[in-house]
Amino acid sequence: AEEVHAVIIVGAGMSGISAANKLSKAGIENILILEATNRIGGRIQKTNFAGLSVEIGASWVEGVGGPRLNPIWDMVNRLKLTTFYSNYDNISSNAYKQKGGLYEKSEAQKAFYAAQELSELIKNVSKYLKAHRQDDISILASQRLKNQVPSTPLDMAIDYIAYDYEFSEPPRVTSLKNSIPLHTFSKFGEDAYFVADSKGYESVVYFVAKQFLTTNESGEITDPRLLLNKVVNEISYSKNGVTVQTEDGSVYRAEYIMVSASIGVLQSGLINFKPDLPPWKILAMYQFDMAVYTKIFLKFPDKFWPTGNGTEFFFYAHEKRGYYTIWQQLEEEYPGANVLLVTVTDDESRRIEQQPDSDTKAEIMGVLRAMFGMNISEATDILVPRWWSDKFYRGSYSNWPIGVSRLEYDRIRAPVGRVYFTGEHTSEYFNGYVHGAYLAGVDSAKMLIRCVKHGDCCYSIPPKGS
Ligand code: FAD
Repeated sequence: AEEVHAVIIVGAGMSGISAANKLSKAGIENILILEATNRIGGRIQKTNFAGLSVEIGASWVEGVGGPRLNPIWDMVNRLKLTTFYSNYDNISSNAYKQKGGLYEKSEAQKAFYAAQELSELIKNVSKYLKAHRQDDISILASQRLKNQVPSTPLDMAIDYIAYDYEFSEPPRVTSLKNSIPLHTFSKFGEDAYFVADSKGYESVVYFVAKQFLTTNESGEITDPRLLLNKVVNEISYSKNGVTVQTEDGSVYRAEYIMVSASIGVLQSGLINFKPDLPPWKILAMYQFDMAVYTKIFLKFPDKFWPTGNGTEFFFYAHEKRGYYTIWQQLEEEYPGANVLLVTVTDDESRRIEQQPDSDTKAEIMGVLRAMFGMNISEATDILVPRWWSDKFYRGSYSNWPIGVSRLEYDRIRAPVGRVYFTGEHTSEYFNGYVHGAYLAGVDSAKMLIRCVKHGDCCYSIPPKGS
C-alpha cells in the first residue's frame, strides 16, 4: 500500500484518459487513474431511453470540414460511428409562433438575415478590440453597440439558437473577444455531426483508453491502473510529493497528480486541497463559468410533426427567452421511434432540474400543443438529464464569461507545485468541447513530461494584456 506512483490522475473522462495515454507513451507508465463513478467517459455518456441508445452528454463532433482535421472526427470515422450532418439551412421555414402556427417564411428569413448581418458586425467589433488591445465586452454589449438588441420573440429565438445553444449562457454573460470568432470553427471547420450510434459517442474515450490500458479477450478494460468508484476528496501536496484520500478511506501516494474534474467540481469544494491552492489560482478558477445544457428526450405513440428534408431542426419563439426554444426531430437517427429532443440551458436548466419530470412534461406538452394543435398525443416517455445537480459534474461544460482575461484563463491551467490540471476548461483554444478535453489532456501531459523527464517544471504565464 506504500507504493508511490509516478502520477495519479483524477477522473477518467476524455481529458484524464488522454493525459494518461500521452504520459504512458512517453514512458511514464506507473500511473493510477481514480474515477468517482462506475465508468469511464465522464460527460460523454450514452443511456437507454425507451429501448434506444441516446446521448445525454456530448452529441456532436463540432468543427468539421475546415483547414485542420479535428482529432475527434478522425476517431469517430476510424470507429465507424454513425453520424448525421446537422443542417440548419432550412430552419427559417420551421419557426413556430408562441400561440401557434408558423411564421411566414419571408418574415423568418428576414430575421435570420438580419441576425447573420449582426453577427458579422460583432465579429468585426471583436477583431477591433483585439487589434487595439481594448478590454473585453459581452456579446450583448457588442449588439447594443450596433443598436440591435434582439427583443421580439422571433429575434430572441434566433439569437438563442446562435449563442445560448452553443455556449449555454446568454450573450449578456459570454465574452465577445474569446468566443467570436470561435477557434473550433475557424481551425476545424463550420460543420457539426450528430452522433447516434448504439456503440455510443463514449467509444472515442475507450478508443484512447485502449491504446494504453490492458484489456481482456472480450475487449473490457482490466488494467489495475484504472480504479472506478474512487471519489477523491483530499489532495495533500508538498515539494516532496502528493497524498490522495478517497471517500472510502483509501490513501494513495504519487510524485505528481493531475486533476481533470470539471471547473464546476473544482469550485464546489468536493476536493479539499492541503494546503489551500494559492489565491491567484483560486481567483482565476472561481471566475470561469460552468454552464448548464439540458437535452430532454421525449417519445410519443405517433408523429404529429413534419419529417423529411429540411425539417430536422425547428424552433418555438416565446416571449420568455429560451423557453423550450430549440427542437430536433430524430426520425433519421431513430426511424419509427417517434422521438423528439428539446434543449434548454442556464436558468431554465436549473429550474427544470429541481422540478419533477411530470411538471416538465406538462410544460412541454403545452408548448407542443401550441405548435401542433390540441389533438396531439401525450408523450409516453421523458428523459431529463441532471448534470448541474450531479456533484461529479456541476453542469455541462465551461463557458468563457466577460471579465476573464487570457491571463486568468492561463492561470486555471497552470500547475501548483506538483499538482497539475487538465479538463476541457484548460484547453488552450477549445474549452467546452470533446476535442478541447482531448487536446487539453495531451497538452497538460506534455507539461508534466517536461518536468518529470527534463526537470523543466517551470510554467510561465504571459503577462496581462499580451
Ligand atoms: P469529464 O468528462 O467531466 O471528466 C472528468 C471525470 O472526473 C468524470 O468522469 C468525473 O466523474 C470525474 N470526477 C469528478 N470529480 C471527481 C473526484 N472527486 N474524484 C474522482 N473522479 C472525479 N462537447 C462537444 O464537443 N460536442 C457536444 O455536442 C457537446 N455537448 C454536450 C452536452 C452536454 C449535456 C454536456 C454535459 C457536455 C457536452 N459537451 C459537448 C462537452 C464535452 O462533453 C466535455 O467538454 C468533455 O466531455 C469533458 O471532458 P473532461 O475530461 O474535461 O471532463
